[in-house]
Amino acid sequence: MKVAVVGAGASGLFVSGLLAKAGHNVFLFDKNEKVGKKLFITGKGRCNFTNVCSVDEFLKNVVNGSKFLKSALYSFSSQDCLNYFESLGLEYKVERGNRAFPQSDKSSDVIKVLQNNHCSGVNICLDEEVLSISKKEDFIVVTKKRKENFDRVIICTGGKSYKSTGSDGAGYKFAKIFGHNIVEPRPALCPVLIKDGFIKSLQGVSLKNVELKTICDEKKLNFFGEMLFTDRGISGPIVLTTSCYINRAKSVKMAIDFKPALSEKQLDDRLLRDFEQNKNKDLKTVLKGLLPKAVADVFSGAIGIDENKKIHDITKQEREKIVIGLKNFAISYAGLYDIDTGIVTSGGVNLNEINPKTMESRLVSGLYFLGEVLDVDALTGGFNLQIAWSTAYQCAKMF
Ligand SMILES: Cc1cc2nc3c(=O)[nH]c(=O)nc-3n(C[C@H](O)[C@H](O)[C@H](O)COP(=O)(O)OP(=O)(O)OC[C@H]3O[C@@H](n4cnc5c(N)ncnc54)[C@H](O)[C@@H]3O)c2cc1C
Repeated sequence: MKVAVVGAGASGLFVSGLLAKAGHNVFLFDKNEKVGKKLFITGKGRCNFTNVCSVDEFLKNVVNGSKFLKSALYSFSSQDCLNYFESLGLEYKVERGNRAFPQSDKSSDVIKVLQNNHCSGVNICLDEEVLSISKKEDFIVVTKKRKENFDRVIICTGGKSYKSTGSDGAGYKFAKIFGHNIVEPRPALCPVLIKDGFIKSLQGVSLKNVELKTICDEKKLNFFGEMLFTDRGISGPIVLTTSCYINRAKSVKMAIDFKPALSEKQLDDRLLRDFEQNKNKDLKTVLKGLLPKAVADVFSGAIGIDENKKIHDITKQEREKIVIGLKNFAISYAGLYDIDTGIVTSGGVNLNEINPKTMESRLVSGLYFLGEVLDVDALTGGFNLQIAWSTAYQCAKMF
């Protein structure tokens, strides 16, 4: 069979190699001058190419599409992925959180084994953007260099974020032409905009062991760990995770718990002890023992108590206000950063229109969608790349 694969990212490279090995005549198109431009920057250049865990555990880390992906993940699990990459000659290591990386810490090694070993039988057509796809009896694929007929077409064009890597949402356009519905693409794993004036003075401050508390359409989300302030908002691991769950919400409220290990009562006891020892000092000085300096500088203003007030003048009500502020420091959510900043795109081709056993369109036979172009997304940790490998495998095995 003559097959056109559009997009030489993770899913496109993987499906192309599998199909070529099975004897198909595969043409892999990418608009870039080289394959795997996004793969190259994954895992901060180290490529966290899978997460070694059970399928059940994996699915807990999938934000959208877990039911759809189950069959593909059973067909090609993270352990299958490790075994396969090893057979291609890639040495790997598994780090904290079951995250697998190439032993060399170089994403280029993952790309090399995919391009040279896995895709050796594939016609790789670089610098060749697919401009249109139509279907009469066959599919007709048009690029600047050709107008050619194919038996089947596989769309692997990725999402809509990090456009500089080539994923600019072209796959949605192709899908729409064939009658597919697109769940609105939104950023996921991205920073959050905050509109409080104090944000500017906190830029660059990082917080450890805090809890980001979010109420999203009346649902509570609490994530514990690290975050940091940016020029326009907040970022860091717990913020990126939160972003995945709020990008489709109508109402979002956020607060930081600076002391998640202490109950309000325990914190109040601690304040009483601190106040007893510092009766003649001002509030600002005592707060510096509880918070990073830059945060202490804005804290009392934000909760409405004069920072120069002497501790012996602080009333019981004001002490309560401080406790509430430390446990529930409200920040004003103003949306997510631009979609281009999303480590993944949430949204994409509607999963109801795709057969999860084959990845084939239910609307157009011979047309397939793999990887991030689908309405699937997961948390950080190697899950998104495994989705690319598993959907590719699921497709190839049914050809
Ligand atoms: C900074 C960053 C770090 C990340 N780190 C990790 C990580 O460590 N682990 C992890 O699991 N996930 C990570 N991800 C997510 C992961 O990279 C993606 O989910 C994955 O690459 C998606 O694979 P894909 O095949 O669907 O699309 P992509 O890898 O984005 O590939 C799409 C390809 O299609 C091509 N294309 C688009 N339109 C056309 C057209 N019209 N004609 C021809 N070619 C076209 C593009 O040029 C591109 O090469 C990271 C993402 C980013 C941005």
